[in-house]
Amino acid sequence: MSISAYDPDNIFAKIIKGEIPSVKLYEDDDTLAFMDVMPQAPGHLLVIPKQGSRNLLDADPAVLAKLIPVVQKLAVAAQEAFDADGVYVAQFNEPAAGQTVFHLHFHVIPRHDGLPLKPHVGGMENIDVLKANAAKIIAAL
Ligand code: 5GP
Repeated sequence: MSISAYDPDNIFAKIIKGEIPSVKLYEDDDTLAFMDVMPQAPGHLLVIPKQGSRNLLDADPAVLAKLIPVVQKLAVAAQEAFDADGVYVAQFNEPAAGQTVFHLHFHVIPRHDGLPLKPHVGGMENIDVLKANAAKIIAAL
């Protein structure tokens, strides 16, 4: 199967360029972290590189080398902010694997024993709830 090229007009590219709003958590020269608008649990966030790649399969290893420490930093902060029992880190490649936005991203989701995740790409969360959860994560960074 041939895989499509990176589309520079995808929704996360627009978030990087500031053309679409997001609830930001962390930013540096190479990386951005922000709240997922359809969280599967409170504190669900996304970490993305600013350099475009469709997913992990076509990513530059040098980009990954800068990205993963930020995924770790956000995972630790999310665990602390939500007093979580665990942290789920996920990344999907192509629709067959569940990918719906075609700019590389890592999901970071605080997990609590016995609490199931909501469905992937379920309902939109209230913006004030996202902002309140973001404030907890930022305080733990
Ligand atoms: P994927 O299915 O590609 O792994 O995940 C894409 C994620 O992006 C989903 O969890 C979805 O809720 C989230 N998402 C989709 N559109 C937007 C958006 O415009 N803003 C934010 N912050 N998250 C989005």
